[in-house]
Amino acid sequence: MTERHLNYIAGEWQPAFGGTTFEDRNPADERDLIGLFPDSDAADVTAAISGVSAAWPAWAAQSPEVRADVLFRAADIMARRADEIATELTREEGKTLTEARNEARRIAANFRLYAGEALRLNGETYPSDSAQLVLSLRQPVGVVAVITPWNFPLSMAARKLGPALAAGNGVVFKPSEITPLMGQRLVEVLLEAGLPPKLVALVQGKGAKVGQAITASAGVDALTFTGSYAVGKQIAASLSTDTRVQLEMGGKNATVVLVDAGIDKAVATIERGAFGLTGQACTGTSRVLVARPLYAELVARLEKSASAIKVGPGMAEGVQMGPLATRVQYDKVLAYVGIAREEGGRVVGGDALREADSNLAHGYFVRPAVVSDLPETSRLWREEIFGPVVAVRPIDSLDEAIKLADDTEYGLAVSLVTGDLPSVLRFARETQHGIVKVNSPTTGVSLNAPFGGLKHSSNQAAKEQGGANVMDFYSRIKSIYLGA
Ligand code: ADP
Repeated sequence: MTERHLNYIAGEWQPAFGGTTFEDRNPADERDLIGLFPDSDAADVTAAISGVSAAWPAWAAQSPEVRADVLFRAADIMARRADEIATELTREEGKTLTEARNEARRIAANFRLYAGEALRLNGETYPSDSAQLVLSLRQPVGVVAVITPWNFPLSMAARKLGPALAAGNGVVFKPSEITPLMGQRLVEVLLEAGLPPKLVALVQGKGAKVGQAITASAGVDALTFTGSYAVGKQIAASLSTDTRVQLEMGGKNATVVLVDAGIDKAVATIERGAFGLTGQACTGTSRVLVARPLYAELVARLEKSASAIKVGPGMAEGVQMGPLATRVQYDKVLAYVGIAREEGGRVVGGDALREADSNLAHGYFVRPAVVSDLPETSRLWREEIFGPVVAVRPIDSLDEAIKLADDTEYGLAVSLVTGDLPSVLRFARETQHGIVKVNSPTTGVSLNAPFGGLKHSSNQAAKEQGGANVMDFYSRIKSIYLGA
């Protein structure tokens, strides 16, 4: 019996007003229907916004301890349910069970971090003459819309919902249509933790309809989005000028291997950054720039290790790489492998395992690909693929490494493999990337550090996730002049 899931609007679980639904299927086996979810439209969004607008002032008026307590309890529930939710995450998104557990188990720590922030929403006092006291007061923004992608459906959402709620806001949450169940699970956990029922609304939907209704609404005070540059740009263009917006978008991330780097360390760093999560991380490594003397050996070693990766359903024992999350992703990755070949590149891997292996015939399985000897004009140097495809190119100097690493419209994450401190310092200062990793993969971030990119990767509204300014986006500062 197919499970029919619901929206959560104004404190009630309910179908979309229009009555339509969309399917959620397992990318490792598309015959496996996970459930039907409401395919909402503008009417559902309007109801969601009006419910949350009515609810947030009472939440904002609560003492910060009350808000922190809800998030602490949500952390405990998440910790208890992490492995069970991780299994559903693998079924819904495709990542391996190990990757899913890593994501799900971390949510508790995220919620605890933001619970602490609820208690630290400090203002400041400013030097002034003795006739008055000048101070700043932080207040919630109001209704925060949260629009998230599918690749980290729990953590991307938790790191937006957590600070939004900690600061006293209400949230209208639109998860990706690829991972609606994970969005629902997060909302269930928050409600079980005692979040006031109308403070959060969950609006599921396929395509752009729900997002567009959110951006067109005058009732949204702030919108935080993670997804593609194309959609981020549309959101920015359609919002009214007094809506705050935070956009975290794509990346075309490079790992730079300098001549002193040990090959083993370089291979391990690249393999993890490029092929972890089936290459579907916005911080994933898709370009490698390697000192020319190491080029041939590094390419050979990467080809060997990529070929040895066990690809299969994320649930299966010993599998190191799950399927791509959608048919669209699968077709896109294979198209780029085809482009690399047409351009004259050497491609090892990139096979469509769906066609090649009858055990994998119903999922979006692709063998990881290592591409070398590409022309400088190759599209693989510039376009975001979002899959397990890595292109390798030789470099002759640190200057060239910096220039080529930055030769992209994006500027999210870059990594450098070397023990040479002067090169590290220069690279870290000069590169146009928001995250610089040294001797570690482009992927993987600390939950308490600022997260965000430069150029097309981010709109430069306060950085997401952690750091001293994490709450700036979710709160407004009022300057108060107290006269005697
Ligand atoms: P991804 O495919 O990586 O999830 P997208 O940018 O396509 O990235 O989608 C990210 C989120 O934005 C999803 O929840 C999606 O439903 C939503 N979305 C898609 N189109 C629009 C739009 N025009 N306005 C607002 N949100 C949108």
